Amino acid sequence: MQPTYSLVIPIYNEEATIPEMYRRVGAVMDGLDGPCELILVNDGSRDRSLALLRDLRDRDPRVCYLSFARNFGHQTAVTAGLNFARGRIVIVLDADLQDPPELIPAMVEQWRAGYQVVYAQRVQRRQESWFKRLTAYGFYRVLRHLADVDIPTDTGDFCLMDRQVVEALNAMPERNRYLRGLRAWAGFRQTAIPFQRDPRFAGEVKYTFRKSLALAIDGLVSFSKVPLRMSTYVGLLSAAIALLMGLLVLYWRLFEPNSPLTGFATIAIAIFFLGAVQLVSIGILGEYIGRIYEEVKGRPLYTLAEVKGFEHQRPTPALHTPPPP
Ligand code: UDP
Ligand code: MG
Repeated sequence: MQPTYSLVIPIYNEEATIPEMYRRVGAVMDGLDGPCELILVNDGSRDRSLALLRDLRDRDPRVCYLSFARNFGHQTAVTAGLNFARGRIVIVLDADLQDPPELIPAMVEQWRAGYQVVYAQRVQRRQESWFKRLTAYGFYRVLRHLADVDIPTDTGDFCLMDRQVVEALNAMPERNRYLRGLRAWAGFRQTAIPFQRDPRFAGEVKYTFRKSLALAIDGLVSFSKVPLRMSTYVGLLSAAIALLMGLLVLYWRLFEPNSPLTGFATIAIAIFFLGAVQLVSIGILGEYIGRIYEEVKGRPLYTLAEVKGFEHQRPTPALHTPPPP
């Protein structure tokens, strides 16, 4: 039977949260007015998560799971869930209950009102460090300023999507998947629903600072060419400064031979400054070229070690067969 609702939840070392997550998500599913499937994507967990998923599958036929052959990252795990989801309505949320599943009925309400994407927007983050709050606040505003598409601020991956939107996302061939950006890029009728982000239910944060930074750079580079242009601008600016300095030095040589500004320090600073500008520019170029390289290799996004609950499901063609050259 085709489910009406698909809930997609990525799982990475979540043994401490899975039982409570299943309890709360299960209660919400019981209250929904159609058949549901709960798609749990095990992203190469090293703890007992997979065993817990198998156990849930044995007890509840609504539970389906995918298990990656290694850790591929949150965005890839959600992507895989979207590839396999069959529902008319697909909802993505985190395993740690920071995205309260009790919000889902309100999201469905908005879908009924005609919206095809209902994303949850944080109005408050409870008990997250000031560092996380500050960097997140700054980043979303910079991104909004630089990106070609209007990516709403303070939204994560917690959202409801109509089948049509999921098909559009599944058809996007890129390997670099900044999902909240792709979702905004896709268009359709979108609306926000405000919510308070709860603290993590249990366990450690799986997004280390490094992973968060990588995600932020992915978002910027995938959705903006401004950094490239910026290196051009800085280059032009330093050329102008160099020209000005040249004129100044010429003036001093001719009219003020005792000027102090022609010594070693000036040269050293100029060399370091230009060296820095060049290295940063090369770094920015590298970010884009590295991504081109990733795309060109055309590898599948993930490798699956185990799939349960999708026996009659054909894999999404866009994903498993490379497009003709
Ligand atoms: N996650 C994942 N793969 C990873 C890291 C995280 O699937 O490599 C999952 C994790 O299990 C959780 C969600 O992504 O369901 C969000 O992770 P977390 O709560 O640690 O990060 P936050 O977004 O709260 O900073
Ligand atoms: Mg979390």
